[in-house]
Amino acid sequence: MESGFASGTSQRIILHLDMDSFYASVEIQKRPGLRGKPVIIGADPKNGKGRGVVATCSYEARAFGIRSAMPISQAFILCPHAVFLPPDFPRYVKVSADVMAILKAQGFPHQQVSIDEAFLDLSRLGVFPAATDLAVRIKDTILTHTGLTCSIGLAPTKVVAKIASDINKPNGLTLVEPENLFSFLAPLPVRKIPGIGKKTEADLFEMGIRTIKDLAAYDIQVLIARFGRSAIALQDIAAGIDREEVKERDGMKSVSRETTFTEDTDDVKLIAATMDALTEEVCRNLTDESLHCRTVTVKVRYQGFITRTKARTLPHYTGDPATVRMCAHTLLRDIFCGQKIRLLGIRLSSFDMCDARQMILDV
Ligand SMILES: [Mg+2]
Repeated sequence: MESGFASGTSQRIILHLDMDSFYASVEIQKRPGLRGKPVIIGADPKNGKGRGVVATCSYEARAFGIRSAMPISQAFILCPHAVFLPPDFPRYVKVSADVMAILKAQGFPHQQVSIDEAFLDLSRLGVFPAATDLAVRIKDTILTHTGLTCSIGLAPTKVVAKIASDINKPNGLTLVEPENLFSFLAPLPVRKIPGIGKKTEADLFEMGIRTIKDLAAYDIQVLIARFGRSAIALQDIAAGIDREEVKERDGMKSVSRETTFTEDTDDVKLIAATMDALTEEVCRNLTDESLHCRTVTVKVRYQGFITRTKARTLPHYTGDPATVRMCAHTLLRDIFCGQKIRLLGIRLSSFDMCDARQMILDV
């Protein structure tokens, strides 16, 4: 079996960069008086009665047990004297663009995966020491230009680079060379694998699987019986095998699918089922590219080639197939006039990068 530990010229060197508590750091940069204080960005806590959640918080706030996505009311109980701020997205987007421009200027394949995270494929450098030198320079350049620190992981695969960037936060630089790949992964709790959430972690614990080493060694048939086919990818990751490439996707503006019926049809059930299948496919595409969309467009071509399309822009970005499906069916109802349909299509556009961790389904 081919392993992820190949050496020589085919060795990949992947860099993953993640800004440190990004929103909070931007706020502190704006108002240096906040430095050293617990700062929480998110919904208005309204003296503990606020609804909504924590977007992010400074490391000082984390010391009180505050985490992203926690209800803001709970954060208020844990740390009522924290500085609570509403998010300033235009500023975060501007700083993010500055950081991404610095990364792009290095001239390597580049993939932004969220507002403050990106991969670079440094394989061309050939050896890890050269990649480490570049990582140090990138950290310095970002600090000089934005005043912000980031954490970087360097590893032979994307998943391991991502795990590595997270392990020495803040201001970390973690190098996992091929010969250390398994000793790095083995003792880590399974939760460190991006995509393993609370539920999967609990299920794995129940099976006696606590560390990545446990997962790598577990009987794959039992894992498949419990988690389905996705268990294969999961065990590969645990074994350090991950062939995912750094995908540049400049210029990708939309994903779409359409299908022509073998016979023109006005069968509402068949039309609805076809729309479901098309929706599932475009949503899978979205997930593969770590994207969220806001605009859903449905296209119907009737007998005689009369084509009607209708689009709707959602209030929020989404990657959720159920949301997209609901929107697609509403649009379809609006433009379906009862005549026989020849072709049906769906297109998703208005993309935003999303956090890969949120996109990998919790199996
Ligand atoms: Mg970050």
